Amino acid sequence: LLIYLDGKFVPKSEARVSVYDHGFLYGDGVFEGIRAYNGRVFKLKEHVDRLYDSAKAIAMDISLTKEEMSEIILETLRKNNLKDAYIRPIVSRGVGDLGLDPRNCEKPSVVVIAQGWGAMYGDLYEVGLKGVSVCIRRNAPDALSPNIKSLNYLNNILAKIEANEKGGDEAIFLDQNGFVCEGSGDNIFIVKNNQVFTPFTISNLKGITRATAIELLDEIGYKVIEANLGLFDLYTADEIFVTGTAAESAPLTKLDGRLIGTGKPGALTLKMVEAFDKITQSTGTP
Ligand code: PLP
Repeated sequence: LLIYLDGKFVPKSEARVSVYDHGFLYGDGVFEGIRAYNGRVFKLKEHVDRLYDSAKAIAMDISLTKEEMSEIILETLRKNNLKDAYIRPIVSRGVGDLGLDPRNCEKPSVVVIAQGWGAMYGDLYEVGLKGVSVCIRRNAPDALSPNIKSLNYLNNILAKIEANEKGGDEAIFLDQNGFVCEGSGDNIFIVKNNQVFTPFTISNLKGITRATAIELLDEIGYKVIEANLGLFDLYTADEIFVTGTAAESAPLTKLDGRLIGTGKPGALTLKMVEAFDKITQSTGTP
């Protein structure tokens, strides 16, 4: 496996960054998660745009143009002969000293890792995920905005640990006011009385799969309503599904010990799983 590291492709065993890299010392950096299906990168432009927005928000200059970054991503796939893959671009503040001042970091470190990848949740697409609402709160938008896909994922990791401990497949985050935000690595949709709702993006990552789901739903006649949702809305929903680059579109059929709807993936959710399969297989940058 060849990994892109600061201008070169190096074998996996040689791909190393310095212990003085502020990505390592402080989680100072940004990343993306992208998928390729059938040799085509799904929503490449959207992911590269988001990577640069995340960098902008933390006042970091990536030092490559978006075109160069896109080309590096495509080249990483080609070099590894990958057709169905997960791609992880990472840009950290770079190597500095032990102080946190980013002015001591001369240039950002740029890494792109790609590896073969299939569906993340295996049989759970048929049965549905078990969700657990967690005590840890999503970052407040006035602190570290959840819109920044930063290397500081501790919040999400703590949510995952809590969900794991409670026997769940995915954590559901609330914000400080008790409004539902998202999963630890995916956005959330609920279906109630044939209407589809999803939380506003102020409190969660503006998911690219979320945007795709909104478009796909629009095509089949559902106008997704952005709303403040509470756990009550989730417990009493007819269907819940989550969306994300890794998860794709996946049903959530249990939450905090309650069955969602019938406890089986709902009709619209299954339609979404299928529509998502179709669009990922038929579009993307070669
Ligand atoms: N929310 C969080 C916290 C994530 O890490 C991700 C994954 O990237 C998502 C949502 C889903 O976003 P996307 O559909 O762009 O992958």
